[in-house]
Amino acid sequence: MVFEANRFFIRLCGGGAEPDEGSRGHGSNDGDGGTHLAGYNRAMSELKFDDRGLMPAVVQDWLTGQVRMCAFVNREAIARTVETGRATFFSRSRGSIWENGETSGNTLHVRELYVDCDADTLLVLAEPAGNSCHTGKPSCFFRRLEGDQIADETMPAVAFLNRLEAEIQSRRASTAEKSYTKTLLESGAAKIGDKVREEADEFARAVGSEGDDRVASEAADVVYHLMVGLASRGVPWRAVIDVLAKRAGTSGHAEKASRRKPSNT
Ligand SMILES: [Zn+2]
Repeated sequence: MVFEANRFFIRLCGGGAEPDEGSRGHGSNDGDGGTHLAGYNRAMSELKFDDRGLMPAVVQDWLTGQVRMCAFVNREAIARTVETGRATFFSRSRGSIWENGETSGNTLHVRELYVDCDADTLLVLAEPAGNSCHTGKPSCFFRRLEGDQIADETMPAVAFLNRLEAEIQSRRASTAEKSYTKTLLESGAAKIGDKVREEADEFARAVGSEGDDRVASEAADVVYHLMVGLASRGVPWRAVIDVLAKRAGTSGHAEKASRRKPSNT
């Protein structure tokens, strides 16, 4: 899994279109050549736009999987996205191209583009430079349907791990009665460290000699205590995934060598 800056793939489910080296897409050319536009023309011709020339686009945080926003794209918006590396859409109300974060600076830096199996919906995997919704929320999806109501949530929809992270964080500030998490957070770094070691040891034992359920359960304990440790320092879980992603882009040996402390070399 190696990501190269300014290189995007339009992947068609079922393996239809491979990038067609050398040909150039249409759309604006902002001057920096567009040499990385490894011929998305052929892939583009396989995309199925509706009768207005549009298709919906879903933007996801490439590290956490959080859905950040949805909008429409036309051919030009996709071409611009590929050229600039910044998620660009088409506004149906204004009838014009727009780039997310154009004024706020909260750009969505595109990592990869996918289309779905019938090639009529775009998925944009992006690194958000800030909040993606015009309301100032990280994601547009903060309104939860609950019975016949729409409830505005403080936190937008996230996958479970990030929800757990937010809950651990909230325990820190909570004045409500004591919880295990709150007690642990208040016990300090040394105690949290002890718990992480203890749970890691139990996990190691489970991996060696216990059933899959025990392995999963002990792994959950390790992850939970890691998250408490991270919360105690205010280090987001996303930063951990970011490190993993960066490492995936380097060879294992080279990466290990770069991480090695001078005393170990
Ligand atoms: Zn929004």
